[in-house]
Amino acid sequence: MIKVTFLGTSDAIPSAERNHTSILLEYKNENILIDCGEGTQRQFRKAKLNPNKITKILITHWHGDHVLGLPGLLQTLAFSNYNKTLNIYGPRGTKEFMGVLLRTFAFQGKYKINVEEVENRFFENDEFYLEAEKMTHGTPCNAYSFVKKGRLRIDKKKLEKTNLKGPILKKLKEGKDITYNDKKYLAKNLTYGEDSKKVSFVFDTSFNKNIVPFVKNSDLLVCESTFGEELEDKADEYRHLNVNHTANIAKKSKSKKLVLTHISQRYSKNPKKILDAAKKIFKNSVLVNDLDEIEVK
Ligand SMILES: [Zn+2]
Ligand SMILES: [Zn+2]
Repeated sequence: MIKVTFLGTSDAIPSAERNHTSILLEYKNENILIDCGEGTQRQFRKAKLNPNKITKILITHWHGDHVLGLPGLLQTLAFSNYNKTLNIYGPRGTKEFMGVLLRTFAFQGKYKINVEEVENRFFENDEFYLEAEKMTHGTPCNAYSFVKKGRLRIDKKKLEKTNLKGPILKKLKEGKDITYNDKKYLAKNLTYGEDSKKVSFVFDTSFNKNIVPFVKNSDLLVCESTFGEELEDKADEYRHLNVNHTANIAKKSKSKKLVLTHISQRYSKNPKKILDAAKKIFKNSVLVNDLDEIEVK
């Protein structure tokens, strides 16, 4: 199961209800933080999450509302005896900015920080991979996808009808046919494919042709929705998405569920206005508040 916690859901200016952007994706031992706006540390506490478990930080871009929480978080990890290598991934310029940031705050952590400027598929292990795609926001900006790989699973009911057990099952899981007590068993008859799962994050960009193919078939599409349907011109001017763009991206990419976030103070009294506009185009839309959690099973 993949769990996504929305630690902050505001746009550039945080409000009493909404913190700057930050999202934690948890999958097994992996804790991936996407952006780290101001106040992220306290949101961790409120959500009863442990920042010491963070394994990777993905930075979409270096506007303050997405990174102002970084120095504080890095300092707290140092105080908490964080002892892993912290991997920080971001768009072009990230190495320089991280260098300046660590010097400015006289960082004295004993843990290692590995900084990489990434695009395309930049991390992969047996369980999942991470991808980045360039967005258009006036400053280098990446969208990200987390993809849990599909796997072959053994169909336990079908297995019960055989005498198979023990280490030989490993071969079945690898999709290999096996012979046991002179009888041949075909892997395809005893296994089924578990679907892969995809969670995508699109933050701060004008509408561009890269978005839909990049987020194609997301199980969960988390997308900025800074401007309402009435402010399409403003969205273009400030290189953001308006809700019609966001919902159309979800529809055209055949995503299963759309999460609207990066909500402007303009809609603080009536965020439903954004949600209703999205639902007219893409029914399975939700608008998140701080500390909301969504599971992808
Ligand atoms: Zn922003
Ligand atoms: Zn921005």
